[in-house]
Amino acid sequence: MKDDQGNSFNLNGEPFGSGGEGKIYRTDRPGFVVKIYEKTPTPEQVSKLKVMIANPPKASPSDPGDVAIAWPTSLAYKGKQCIGFLMPEIGRNVQFIQVYNPKSRKKILPKCNWLFLHTAARNFTEIVKDLHKSGYVIGDIKPQNILVNDRAFVSVVDTDSFQVKNGNTVYRCHVVTEGFTPPEMLGFDPSNITQTLYHDRYRVALIIYHLLFTRHPFNEGTWQGSSDEQSQVDKMKSGIWLYNSQGLLKSHISTIPLQVIHPKLQELFKRCFNDGHKDPTKRPSAEDWSTALKVAINDLTSCGKIDTHKYSRTYGKCYWCERKNILNGVDIFEGSAKPVISPPPPSIPPVQTTSSTPIPPPSPPPPAKKIIGFVFLAIATICFIGGAIPFGFILGFIGFSCFSD
Ligand SMILES: [Zn+2]
Repeated sequence: MKDDQGNSFNLNGEPFGSGGEGKIYRTDRPGFVVKIYEKTPTPEQVSKLKVMIANPPKASPSDPGDVAIAWPTSLAYKGKQCIGFLMPEIGRNVQFIQVYNPKSRKKILPKCNWLFLHTAARNFTEIVKDLHKSGYVIGDIKPQNILVNDRAFVSVVDTDSFQVKNGNTVYRCHVVTEGFTPPEMLGFDPSNITQTLYHDRYRVALIIYHLLFTRHPFNEGTWQGSSDEQSQVDKMKSGIWLYNSQGLLKSHISTIPLQVIHPKLQELFKRCFNDGHKDPTKRPSAEDWSTALKVAINDLTSCGKIDTHKYSRTYGKCYWCERKNILNGVDIFEGSAKPVISPPPPSIPPVQTTSSTPIPPPSPPPPAKKIIGFVFLAIATICFIGGAIPFGFILGFIGFSCFSD
């Protein structure tokens, strides 16, 4: 097999992943995998890949040893026939679907807390922000295509399904996922729709909601209507969710209420699912979410009783302790009781930046042996004004820890 420069490479073992009509193989080229399509790619697919290879998004956040976007870097040929494409390998990651689900999360990331989930959400919005700035529409945003590592760094895969524009030519996204399709697209063939940023914005809000609340926003609450309960899709079509239910839905005892998140995030969810229901231009951008998540992360604080509990100061008390009491001991952030001492200082919120400098994630204050992170300090610029007093500015302080070894 050869790349588009004519350099040879070989497959390394059996496929380790699949998706988007193809299988993913490791190669003998370190750090690169290849996607090989099951059917010979059409001329349109090949042209789209060429445009993507020539125009990678402008800023790709990265984590040492990991990449944020599995962007095509070269076509892959067998003889003269294009059979797929090469892309960077994403490291050890799990799908968002495994992280927002409390049961799988407990197995995979037992120390994962709400700060981790806020951070993963923010890191995801940073990637979307960059893609949108570069003119790409993701199209088929779904939790299976978003990966996160144990430092809350996020990676997006299945990029060859993105909607790509080249001058007046638009290579559309031909797939949609049930539960992640904006209301205005429901019932239509995605192949006939040129999508906009506003379609992506709806899906971004759905992803963030899943991370923070563990469930689909249109699958929350108990039906109160006199008619049969509407399906999730019908509720999405009608814009009926707990916070615009016209009395058709009531919170269930296990529902995590919107009030427990920071008010700025509450406002964005309402803007997206209420105002943005009929007018998609009202939906918050990825940048709006990133900004609000930053504020919300800064507002999170540690519970005095359970080591894995983080809650919003704006709520006034630890919601997870409150919920545990209401649900007779059920705790989706199950942890250990803390000794009765004063709570630790809040963690510095981490962020996946758009620059090449990675900013790592947060973390609870775990036992010392679990901390393998680094601390990165400093920078003081000393200015002398007229030979007088020096001024120093501390520009950065970042720390992280791993959630599991
Ligand atoms: Zn608590």
